[in-house]
Amino acid sequence: MTLIIKQIDVSSHPEFDGHQKVIRAEDASIGFLSFIGVHDTTIGPALGGCRYWTRYENEDEALTDVMRLSRGMTYKNALARLPLGGGKAVIVGAPGADRPSDEHLRALGQAVDSLNGTYITAEDVGMSVSFMQVINEVTDHVTGLPQNDPTVAGADPSPFTSYGVMRGIEAAVKVGMGKDTLEGVRVAISGMGNVGMGLAQLLHDRGAKLVVCDIREDKVAEAVERFGAEAISIEEYMGADVDVLAPCALGGVINDETVPMIKAGIVAGAANNQLRRPEHGQILHDKGILYAPDYVINAGGVISIAMTGEKMDVVYDRLDALKPTLIDIFTISRERNKPTGVVADEMAQAILMDAAEQKKTSGAANVRAAE
Ligand code: NAD
Repeated sequence: MTLIIKQIDVSSHPEFDGHQKVIRAEDASIGFLSFIGVHDTTIGPALGGCRYWTRYENEDEALTDVMRLSRGMTYKNALARLPLGGGKAVIVGAPGADRPSDEHLRALGQAVDSLNGTYITAEDVGMSVSFMQVINEVTDHVTGLPQNDPTVAGADPSPFTSYGVMRGIEAAVKVGMGKDTLEGVRVAISGMGNVGMGLAQLLHDRGAKLVVCDIREDKVAEAVERFGAEAISIEEYMGADVDVLAPCALGGVINDETVPMIKAGIVAGAANNQLRRPEHGQILHDKGILYAPDYVINAGGVISIAMTGEKMDVVYDRLDALKPTLIDIFTISRERNKPTGVVADEMAQAILMDAAEQKKTSGAANVRAAE
């Protein structure tokens, strides 16, 4: 087994955005290929999950993914006020192979380890906690591992994501509807999975009226039974007569076909990449629909992963902070007449610039102290 790890020059890649380092790790003898992108470590080590994906058409697709996703993690972690930068890993799976082998996971662990802690890996699409434990045999730079102590944050990010989305909906309802509580607010959730069902419970506890849909009838039936939710079809979802749409299933749900259907004044849900294209953010803004940028409102999961082992109350304080962050984004969006996604990106860039400035100042102070 020979793992070859090479830093690659990505400066002319279309997705290049000042990425600090991108490596390619290959062990042809076991059919292992991976890319790791360290986008930015101004605020701290780069945290981002490792994705296992078997549907890349070619290497460049995997590289493009790692570059795009690692940059996204920098913004997400910055706005979640985590002391972390952004990074991401992908393992290129063989078509049809439903999981990476333990040999592949250890090879990934070696590649992570070669970055000396500038990149911290975690679970993402196609991976599981048990895979992270195999990677952890080879490197310490893994987070989101199971904890024995129930009073600390551990491996399952979904309840934390649900909680963060609930706080985000509160923020949107405050700015969009002038209401301080969720009592009587009508929220439609699509996708009653790990995040959606948890969100439904939290909203129900706060007096919201729920409308739900899922491709799985048993999940819909459960929500009807537990929360007195109204069931609708998937086709009816985007045009639901509610105050808030909370998409918690698939990405790309806001697109040319669905935007004209939307009656809700707020879109605030957990699904990743809800806008099919960035200009859909502008279209929602022009229609006066308040959109919670997905990477901000769904950051509860990464917060819990980053804070694995920390006491729950400390983690919940950080989750609660998503509400004022989103209130700021919504308020600035209205004042400056800009889409919320643009405002969020600008806020993240400002946080990064401040951190860079502080580093420069403290570096200069250290030099003066040493003189
Ligand atoms: P999940 O797989 O547990 O649940 C998804 C649910 O959506 C399932 O019940 C599925 O049956 C349903 N579904 C699939 N296609 C659908 C459709 N067309 N219409 C309606 N329902 C449909 O996933 P999850 O962990 O709950 O994550 C939900 C979303 O939130 C995903 O987009 C995920 O990327 C995003 N997200 C999750 C987390 C987390 O902590 N789990 C964190 C950040 C973002």
